[in-house]
Amino acid sequence: MIKMSHLAKRFGETTIFSGIDLTIEKGEIVVVIGPSGTGKSTLLRCLNFLETADDGQISIGDVTVDCPQAAKRDILALRRKTGFVFQNYALFAHLTARQNIAEGLITVKGWAKQDAYARAQQILDDIGLSDKGDHYPAALSGGQQQRVGIGRAMALEAELLLFDEPTSALDPEWVGEVLTLMQKLATRHQTMLVVTHEMQFAREVADRVIFMADGEFVEQGKPDQIFTNPQDPRLKKFLNKVG
Ligand code: ATP
Ligand code: MG
Repeated sequence: MIKMSHLAKRFGETTIFSGIDLTIEKGEIVVVIGPSGTGKSTLLRCLNFLETADDGQISIGDVTVDCPQAAKRDILALRRKTGFVFQNYALFAHLTARQNIAEGLITVKGWAKQDAYARAQQILDDIGLSDKGDHYPAALSGGQQQRVGIGRAMALEAELLLFDEPTSALDPEWVGEVLTLMQKLATRHQTMLVVTHEMQFAREVADRVIFMADGEFVEQGKPDQIFTNPQDPRLKKFLNKVG
């Protein structure tokens, strides 16, 4: 189980959010939607300490850390339990697709190179890029690069995968293949927390949709409830705009 309690984050004098509570069950797919600048990325980044929350507690499985005074060792343990998929892929340009996927296994998990590459090939097969292992990111399409980005997160077999708008930097023609891969992970009951503007994906794949605005969870529920029977005026307005 994944649990965050009373999470708060400020930048300087500005409070981005405070008092955020969220529990995610094993295998649950939670999608966060909401207007720009509301703190969605910051929340995700706090979960694996790309940013440090100013208050609150985060538990993933058997690791619990208190923010902001978490010990380095606990932060690393927490990071090992999460995989992060970035909007802009954030692949290493000087490494091939196979090396990008294997990198975490070697540096984070201490696997031997040969084993890591063998595992990376299985993942390449799984993400539909069997024959692209030797390609550098620049020689891959946006959709292929993002699938490698997801493959890299998959390699670590993290308890929680965090996706921050994984399709929003893609040309429209590549969006479908990335969403299809995410859907595949969902059917395997990979626990996922996904920030996205893809409402169709949220409708079809999410177990729960959270609408975040002004630094709070304004409304949450099953996709049907959120999309067909929204309550809060801010959510209604947001859905009219994106809809
Ligand atoms: P979007 O939908 O546009 O991605 P978001 O909901 O992900 O928006 P965040 O990126 O989390 O929003 O940003 C929330 C607020 O925090 C914004 O006002 C942003 O300007 C501010 N912010 C984010 N990162 C920093 C930072 N490193 N320093 C100062 N302010 C920041
Ligand atoms: Mg964002």
